[in-house]
Amino acid sequence: MFEVNEGIIQVSYIIATILFILALGGLSNQETARRGNWYGIAGMAIALVATIAGDVTQAYPYLIVALLVGGTVGIIAARRVQMTQMPELVAILHSLVGLAAVAVGFANFMDPDRLTHYLGVELTIHDIETYLGILIGAVTFSGSVIAFGKLSGRIGGKPLTLPARHWLNLALLLAVIWFGYEFVVQSAAGGGIEPLIIMTVVSLLFGIHMVMAIGGADMPVVVSMLNSYSGWAASATGFMLGNDLLIVTGALVGSSGAILSYIMCRAMNRKFLAVIAGGFGTSEGTAAAGGEDQGEVAPIDPEETAGLLTSAREVMIIPGYGMAVAQAQHIVHEITQTLRDKGVNVRFGIHPVAGRMPGHMNVLLAEAKVPYDIVFEMDEINDDFPNVDVSIIIGANDIVNPSALTDPDGPIGGMPVLECWKGTTSIVLKRSMATGYAGVQNPLFFLDNTRMLFGDAKDTLDEVFKGL
Ligand code: NDP
Repeated sequence: MFEVNEGIIQVSYIIATILFILALGGLSNQETARRGNWYGIAGMAIALVATIAGDVTQAYPYLIVALLVGGTVGIIAARRVQMTQMPELVAILHSLVGLAAVAVGFANFMDPDRLTHYLGVELTIHDIETYLGILIGAVTFSGSVIAFGKLSGRIGGKPLTLPARHWLNLALLLAVIWFGYEFVVQSAAGGGIEPLIIMTVVSLLFGIHMVMAIGGADMPVVVSMLNSYSGWAASATGFMLGNDLLIVTGALVGSSGAILSYIMCRAMNRKFLAVIAGGFGTSEGTAAAGGEDQGEVAPIDPEETAGLLTSAREVMIIPGYGMAVAQAQHIVHEITQTLRDKGVNVRFGIHPVAGRMPGHMNVLLAEAKVPYDIVFEMDEINDDFPNVDVSIIIGANDIVNPSALTDPDGPIGGMPVLECWKGTTSIVLKRSMATGYAGVQNPLFFLDNTRMLFGDAKDTLDEVFKGL
């Protein structure tokens, strides 16, 4: 429809790439995160315009309709989604990247010009790119759909551990390699669709099996890992289409997702390969198996809580998933302000896997305008608990569960946790005695220096605020 100078397109791609790198740099810090987001938006806008102007030469009506439909669905989904549903949205968006890679791969393979365009070694390389793109895309797609199901509670969190599952994985891997060889050979002779379809089905099954085998508490690693896969899928698509921007952008997402997976594994004291191999959380925790009688809990009311807080010198607030559910972050901020005005030293302790996505709590606290300098990572404050007078645990459960340290075989065994029980008093805000995401009972609730403040966290904190 219109011709754009190739040089301008290349410069636009480079500018977009720089903006994506600046976006990642910005997102690594709360104070610069907003700016980082704008860099990302600007980069993506430039990338879209440059791709439309440079790469698309025909079928504009289809493109416009697709953009309108996709854009409308995206806007509606983003407006409707609750903050607590964000991880599910991220998972399902990853699945779309995978699906796109599969679709582009098949379209590329079926392109009638393929056999005249690529010859000899070039054809083999192109075929391998197509094969890998579809492979990674299919694993990302089915794995993300299962992750979506698990995060939204539609699929149970218990790991599915088939007998001989490692052998099954190995067999699937060997099948993929064999059909890859078959595909390359048959493709040069004008065929190849059968091995391609078989590999796609095998990859879809592999994605399902991989995520089904991962226990609830290890889901944070899976979410970041699928994030990484979606990047590699996009990168592979870039190779198929010969699009440098897509290659670089995919590699940025792929490698940052891989680094995040590593950080999550370290935070949870897991080995990456062990998580992928699955099966964590299969054994029932002994010290803290759900439903086991662990004694009585000691309730507390909001007024008494307010009294304890006012008379404390050191207060630690530990937010968890329940704070997001209750949307209690704003009242938490008001309580923090009031206590700080009274001379109480209030700090926040953030566990790396608190909530349902990396950085979940930081986002909520930033939204409520809690000052960044009183928000600390677990490693920074875990040794300070003996000096803390009152810890307030707001809708957190697994991240303060002492059985992670005492029961190495349990679902969260070995995961470092915020050791609030070492302080003078812990007050746990939750609605019932229900377990957290990993499904294990929490011995913290039954300790002598723990008090339970039952109710929706926002309602009870409103009452506490009145008491202050
Ligand atoms: P948990 O899921 O362990 O516990 C949340 C607690 O909040 C529940 O016990 C629940 O108890 C309580 N709660 C829910 N709603 C409310 C409410 N309205 N008011 C008060 N309390 C409420 O959350 P944590 O943050 O402690 O731990 C995170 C868990 O999620 C870990 O197991 C982690 O592995 C997993 N995970 C983390 C991801 C991440 O990337 N961060 C991703 C996927 C999983 P009750 O129902 O009694 O109120």
